[in-house]
Amino acid sequence: MFNIILFGPPGAGKGTQSLNIVKEFRFVHLSTGNILRDLIQHNTATGQLIKKFIDRGNLVPDDIVLRELFSEALKHQRKPGLIFDGFPRTVNQAEALDNMLEKKGIPVSMVISLEVEQEELYRRIIGRSVDSGRSDDVEEVIRQRFVTYEQETLPLKDYYHSSGRLVEVSGMASVPEVYELIREEIKSHMQASKRRSVV
Ligand code: ADP
Repeated sequence: MFNIILFGPPGAGKGTQSLNIVKEFRFVHLSTGNILRDLIQHNTATGQLIKKFIDRGNLVPDDIVLRELFSEALKHQRKPGLIFDGFPRTVNQAEALDNMLEKKGIPVSMVISLEVEQEELYRRIIGRSVDSGRSDDVEEVIRQRFVTYEQETLPLKDYYHSSGRLVEVSGMASVPEVYELIREEIKSHMQASKRRSVV
């Protein structure tokens, strides 16, 4: 199995590019945002709790996210690969993910970090808000999401860099151009991991 984490700030294009990867590589897309928003739709006690965090631009507590994401991930162990989109978001989540996947013998193969300038991120999220209907795509919540990202999620870059899994890709160009960069990285890493498994 070839497992990828798509990493980057809100609006970097993780969701958009995940769909392109799914189309070509037949990987399974695991979006924590979508999983959590689905839970909110079901209007259970957990759903209501999750909504409170999301509507303030804060992270949903690790125990909830880990439980929901792991149960989803473990359903797809026979697929060619998984794409983690929007997860992990804290070093604690990253360590828990590494432990879980290593136990299953399916570790994270690469972490693609989409690099996009702040102004462009705002422009994209404001654009998305027109039809996303997302309650967290409004201005004051967007600002808080960036603060949360810088404080809690950005330290993860060092975590993955120091284990040699981080690949930085510019996400500033058009969607197809960015995808071209991503697919080249995935292909070359897949070939390298095949060579390693032969040796
Ligand atoms: P994320 O999942 O990282 O929060 P999304 O994939 O939802 O980001 O993208 C946010 C918005 O920006 C979407 O409306 C999407 O259409 C747009 N977008 C994504 N990538 C690009 C790009 N390379 N150029 C222009 N707009 C983009």
